[in-house]
Amino acid sequence: MNDKKVILTGDRPTGKLHLGHYVGTLKNRVVLQNTGEYTPYIMVADLQALTDNANNPQKIRDSLIEVTLDYLAVGIEPTKSTIFLQSQIPELAELTMYYMNLVTVARLQRNPTVKAEIKQKSFEKSLPVGFFTYPISQAADITAFNAKYVPVGEDQLPMIEQTREIVRTFNSLYGETLVEPEAVLPDSEICKRLPGIDGKEKMSKSLGNGIYLSDDADTVTQKVMSMFTDPNHIKVEDPGNVEDNTVFTYLDAFCSDKVVLDEMKTHYTRGGLGDMKVKRCLNDILQAELEPIRKRRAEYEKNLAEVYKILLEGSLRAKSVAADTLSKVRKAIGIEYFDQNMGSSQGGRYV
Ligand code: ATP
Ligand code: MG
Repeated sequence: MNDKKVILTGDRPTGKLHLGHYVGTLKNRVVLQNTGEYTPYIMVADLQALTDNANNPQKIRDSLIEVTLDYLAVGIEPTKSTIFLQSQIPELAELTMYYMNLVTVARLQRNPTVKAEIKQKSFEKSLPVGFFTYPISQAADITAFNAKYVPVGEDQLPMIEQTREIVRTFNSLYGETLVEPEAVLPDSEICKRLPGIDGKEKMSKSLGNGIYLSDDADTVTQKVMSMFTDPNHIKVEDPGNVEDNTVFTYLDAFCSDKVVLDEMKTHYTRGGLGDMKVKRCLNDILQAELEPIRKRRAEYEKNLAEVYKILLEGSLRAKSVAADTLSKVRKAIGIEYFDQNMGSSQGGRYV
C-alpha cells in the first residue's frame, strides 16, 4: 500500500493563472511534488467556478485548458501529480451532500473570505446557494483524497478550518473515517496574499489586476510600468517611501538577492533613485522568472490533445480514490444498505 502523505489543492477555471497563484501556491506544489515524498492531486475546480458563473459555462470550458497549461508550464508533471477535473468526479457532490448536514448556516455566514467575495461580487441580494456553500464542497474535495496537506494562499485558510471542523464532527459522530488536513502557506508574508498591480486588493482573476503567467514579455513590461509607486516621489532626488509601494512589494516577493534589494530600498528612501530604474529592475526579474514558463507552455499548446488526455487519465485515477472514500463514508454513516448485487437475481443483501 502507498503510505505517502497526500496533497490536494486546486484552482477555479475562471481565467488564466497569475503571479499570485505562482508565489501563493504553485511554487509550493512543485517543490512538494519534486521531493517524491507525497502523492499530489491537483484539481481544476470547474464545479466551484460554476457557483458564481452559472450563466457563463463557456468561460469555464475555455479556462480549464488554460489553467491546465499553466500547471504544466510551471512544472507540475502528470507522472508525479494527478491533475483532474472536479466535474468528472460526481462522488464529490455526494460527499458534499452528507457534509452539509454537519455545518450551520451561521457558521457559513461567518467565513471571512466568502463574506468578502459576496461583497466584491455584489451578491448581497442574489447570493447563489451553491456559492454560499462552496466551503463545504471544498471539504469534500480535500477529504475525498485523504489529503493531509493543502498548499494554498492565505484567503483559503477559512476553508481549511471549515474542512477540519467537518472532519472532526464527522469522525466523532460516525467513527474515525476522514483525515484532518493542514494548510501549507508560503514562508513570505507577501506571497501569502500578493496584491494586484493596482496595489489594492489581492491579485485575482476576477478583479483583472493580475500579471498572468502566460502574458507575453511586452504585456508584462507594460503592466510593470503602469504600477503605482510613492505618489510623493516626484523628482528622482526626492526621498521615497518603500512601504505601500507596489513595485517594492513585488521586489520583496520576487527578488532573491536581499542584499541588493536592501541597498535599493535605502537608496530610494534617501532619494536619488528613480521609479523607472526600480521598475526596470523588477521587470528584468519577472521576465527571467516567466521566460522558461512561457516556453514550456508554448510546447504544450502545440499538443492540446495530449493536455486533454492528461486531464482524462487524471480524472479516472482520481475518481477511483474518491469512490473508495465515499464508500467508507456511506458505511460509516450506516446507509450502505445493500451490497453491490442489488437488483441481481439473488436480490440485495443487507451488509
Ligand atoms: P477567483 O477570482 O476566480 O476566485 P483567484 O485569482 O482568487 O480566482 P483561485 O482559483 O480562487 O484564484 O485560487 C487558487 C489558489 O491560488 C488558492 O490556493 C488561493 O489561495 C491562491 N491565490 C489566489 N490569489 C492569490 C494571491 N493574490 N496571492 C497568493 N495566493 C493566491
Ligand atoms: Mg479565489
